[in-house]
Parts: sequence; C-alpha cells; structure tokens
Amino acid sequence: MSDFLIIGGGVIGMMTALQLADAGQQVTLVERGRCGQEASWAGGGIVSPLYPWRYSAAVSQLSRWSEGAYPSLALRLLEETGIDPEYRQKGCST
Ligand SMILES: Cc1cc2nc3c(=O)[nH]c(=O)nc-3n(C[C@H](O)[C@H](O)[C@H](O)COP(=O)(O)OP(=O)(O)OC[C@H]3O[C@@H](n4cnc5c(N)ncnc54)[C@H](O)[C@@H]3O)c2cc1C
Repeated sequence: MSDFLIIGGGVIGMMTALQLADAGQQVTLVERGRCGQEASWAGGGIVSPLYPWRYSAAVSQLSRWSEGAYPSLALRLLEETGIDPEYRQKGCST
C-alpha cells in the first residue's frame, strides 16, 4: 500500500517521488507513456535564469540553491541508474 500516488513521470513527478522515498514514504508513480519524455525531454537543463536581472530575489535565490544542488544530484543519478545526466557547469551564473 502506497502513501503517495504521483501521476506523471516527468522531472517534477520523478523528483517528487525521489524526495518522498528519501523521506521513507512508499510511492507509486503512474506514467501514461515513458518517464522523462514530454517537456522534460525537451528541457535544456539550464538552472540559472537566462536573464537573472529580470527576476525577483526569490527566484534568484531558488536558482542559486538549485545550482548548488545539481552536481551532487547528477552524480547520485549516475551512480544509482547508470544514466549520465551529462551535467556540465557553463557560463551564466546568478
Ligand atoms: C524546449 C524546452 C526547453 C526547456 N528548457 C528548460 C531549461 O533549460 N531549464 C528549465 O528549468 N526548464 C526548461 N524547460 C521547462 C521544463 O522542461 C519543464 O518545466 C519541465 O520539464 C516540466 O516537467 P513536468 O514533470 O512538470 O512535465 P513533463 O515532463 O511534461 O511530465 C509530465 C508527465 O505526465 C504524464 N502524464 C500527463 N497526464 C497523465 C495522465 N493522465 N496519466 C499518466 N501520466 C500522465 C506525461 O506523459 C508526462 O510524462 C524547457 C521546456 C521546453 C519545452
């Protein structure tokens, strides 16, 4: 019996499932097609806002947090799945 039911296996659904599982919850994820396709397949994976000066302090703060979390997340995903997220640190930073 699951504690949580997540509909949709895009990056949002899968990351939510991962965090819930990390917190010790039983999770069922339902995907109508293949996980990681749809918008998540198209996404360029850019974490920093393309135009940081146009965004609020709250968005820039979240962006900086995400930039900091990305390297260890990418490494964890590679180690646990064998799939290389191909994380590279380049260019623009907030
Ligand atoms: C061209 C492009 C470039 C982008 N570049 C960036 C970027 O550089 N940086 C960035 O941060 N964001 C970027 N984005 C945005 C980012 O890709 C999306 O915000 C993100 O992928 C959304 O994830 P999601 O899980 O909400 O949606 P999705 O990845 O679309 O996942 C939703 C999933 O739900 C499933 N689903 C829907 N209905 C049902 C149902 N009834 N039952 C079962 N499953 C269902 C779908 O099949 C799909 O797999 C980009 C988007 C595009 C299109």
